[in-house]
Amino acid sequence: MTGNAPALAGVIGSPISHSLSPRVHGYWLRKYGIGGYYIPVEIAPGALRDGLEALRRLGFRGVNVTLPHKEEAFALADEASSVARRIGAANTLTFDVQRGVLADNTDGYGFLQNLHEQAPHWRASAGPAVVLGAGGAARAVVDALLSDGAPEIRLVNRTRARAEALADRFGGKAEIVDWEARGDCLEGAATLVNTTSLGMAGHDVLGLDLAALPGAALVTDLVYRPLETELLKRARARGNPGADGLGMLLHQAVPGFERWFGRCPEVDQAVRETVLAP
Ligand code: NAP
Repeated sequence: MTGNAPALAGVIGSPISHSLSPRVHGYWLRKYGIGGYYIPVEIAPGALRDGLEALRRLGFRGVNVTLPHKEEAFALADEASSVARRIGAANTLTFDVQRGVLADNTDGYGFLQNLHEQAPHWRASAGPAVVLGAGGAARAVVDALLSDGAPEIRLVNRTRARAEALADRFGGKAEIVDWEARGDCLEGAATLVNTTSLGMAGHDVLGLDLAALPGAALVTDLVYRPLETELLKRARARGNPGADGLGMLLHQAVPGFERWFGRCPEVDQAVRETVLAP
């Protein structure tokens, strides 16, 4: 890499064409007048090791990682942050000439930043959190809620074995609730998070009975297409504070941008609109 070469970073995954990250980083590069590029790169399953080596040789400073590579990226890294180790997956890699591939996971950071921004009075420590789903996103959410002081996690997933695996990862700090009983575990909750893909455009709606949820509980949905999911609409209609999932997507991108392009970017209304544009 020569001294004057433009800074390169990107996002890797398969498929990658749907990724919104190039819009986010592209907007920030233009906003701050940085002469760099953020490029989506398709890397097929099984080709990650070679793909990362090629990107490093080309002078990339780092990449975001999306499906299906998050776990393997963590496993291949030379060093990993404590949060990436707790989650067992990486969404942000930085290539360091001396130290090699540095893995981090910023999904939980993005999740918490979004909630603190959209619901400034909310505190994870205020009471139990109900987490719907036990996929990759749920891992980061459970870790973030526990790190932020949630006294109890009630974990509800259609496939119980997956919930058990997630609870094991966090030393049994999450209590598992059967999917069929999901409406019954809302009593006393301070936080309700949907990390399933239910409610996403083209998917079934969640259809959760909110009757037992305290009126002060914060409801948040990781789904951001549509921005106002059926869950969020019903929660707001009964007076609960709510937070949509777009801010998580934007905030999780901040640490990578700062590491690769040298400027801490602002998550403002304009970047939200850039991402939401058809
Ligand atoms: P994933 O690993 O594939 O997990 C999907 C989850 O949804 C699993 O818990 C799965 O349950 C559940 N699910 C899927 N279809 C279901 C159905 N018909 N009924 C009940 N449960 C169902 O996906 P992920 O990476 O965790 O992502 C989950 C969602 O979060 C996606 O919509 C994704 O777009 C969104 N997300 C948003 C952000 C953000 O920044 N806002 C970040 C990450 C993810 P089973 O285990 O039973 O299959």
